[in-house]
Amino acid sequence: MNLNEIIQTYYEYFNKEKLPYIKCTNCGYVFYYPRAICPKCLSKKLSIMESKGEGEIYSETKFVNEKGQVTIIGLIRLEEGFMIYANILTNRLEDVSINKKVKVKFKEVIKGQKFPFFTTIS
Ligand SMILES: [Zn+2]
Repeated sequence: MNLNEIIQTYYEYFNKEKLPYIKCTNCGYVFYYPRAICPKCLSKKLSIMESKGEGEIYSETKFVNEKGQVTIIGLIRLEEGFMIYANILTNRLEDVSINKKVKVKFKEVIKGQKFPFFTTIS
């Protein structure tokens, strides 16, 4: 698969509310951000897999704008071992901290296209 085909497949997964990731079938490395070549061993033998969509917060940053609205960006470590930067959605800011369990949630960001976000699991 070339990069455009991988990105297209990711968009299709998102609209089915599935979180994709890539596994190198040569060395076993797993990663999220679409690439046509394994960043570890440079193999092109890659498979798109479906994540359970559950993991924990590895790092997080809260941004507050001039109106006091809060946006939280987290680096999430998924159970399958890959990392993803994503918005964390919550009504309880105190629930968002390192090592907290999160799961994926999909939202339609632009018409006809969903994208992954994360919410905390209590
Ligand atoms: Zn590899």
